[in-house]
Amino acid sequence: MIVIDKVTDLRQYVKQQRLSAVKTAGRELSVGFVPTMGFLHDGHASLLKQAREQNDLVVLSIFVNPIQFGPNEDLDRYPRDEQRDLALAAREGVDVVFLPSVQEMYPQPTKTKIAVSELTEELCGASRPGHFDGVTTVVGKLFHMVAPDTAYFGLKDAQQVAVIRQMVDDLNFDIKIVPCPIVRESDGLALSSRNVYLSEEEREQALILSRSLREAEDWIKSNPAVTTDEIRESLIRNIKSQPLAVIDYVDILAFPSLTPVHTDAAINDLDVEILIALAVKFGTTRLIDNILLTTKGVATHV
Ligand code: AMP
Repeated sequence: MIVIDKVTDLRQYVKQQRLSAVKTAGRELSVGFVPTMGFLHDGHASLLKQAREQNDLVVLSIFVNPIQFGPNEDLDRYPRDEQRDLALAAREGVDVVFLPSVQEMYPQPTKTKIAVSELTEELCGASRPGHFDGVTTVVGKLFHMVAPDTAYFGLKDAQQVAVIRQMVDDLNFDIKIVPCPIVRESDGLALSSRNVYLSEEEREQALILSRSLREAEDWIKSNPAVTTDEIRESLIRNIKSQPLAVIDYVDILAFPSLTPVHTDAAINDLDVEILIALAVKFGTTRLIDNILLTTKGVATHV
């Protein structure tokens, strides 16, 4: 595994590997890419595993991207542990870790941004103005730098998957986007680098997120007539049962269009994939979680 911190070195390395594969093996190299902000956990590892299985060369980037954080968000205290991240990357068989500085990624304040409309106005886009412009801009830059064939993203950030896919389609990036299922702790909490912020009490109460999503899924499966409004209300009621929970949003939208669905229609009659997504604060920590359901209430990605 090699660690690279300069854009030119990264480009040169990947190009070189591609050339020598054609020369020595007489075939094209497949390059898989996993972009992250580090403080890696088993969720990131699952993306790396899939990339490893499906590609000759696996590139991992670790970069806490300042332009996707709002002024009152947690950029300064975002958890970091480079040594532990490198050990995890080596364990997962990563070939290249790209670990650029902020100066390397943004040598001058960027005057160019990639902004996906509509999809970014819902859910996290509504509560974190400018967040997705920061995400698409940095992912677009990283895509140009790595030039992968395939990139892997977690459905933990389902809206991000929809937004990146839209960007790739609209701007003709020749990159396949592979969505990967949410990895959870054994008690249901979705893995997140931000979970370390939680106190013991907050963590205990945060279990309501996965529990209430699972209950919603069971209810939809067992009751064909249940409507999106009823599901949304029950989720809100459930989450509010935890005194430390402060709801940012609980929303039910079509996926990946992120367009509204009929609130009084039976979920099972809707002819689209459904995203049930929520963002809830516990103390200063904002957690997100979701489930994706087919029309018949069956989870497509758990
Ligand atoms: P982050 O480092 O939080 O920006 O995440 C990097 C990538 O890992 C994103 O594509 C996330 O969706 C994905 N990811 C984060 N947590 C999980 C999880 N619990 N399960 C699956 N993927 C995840």
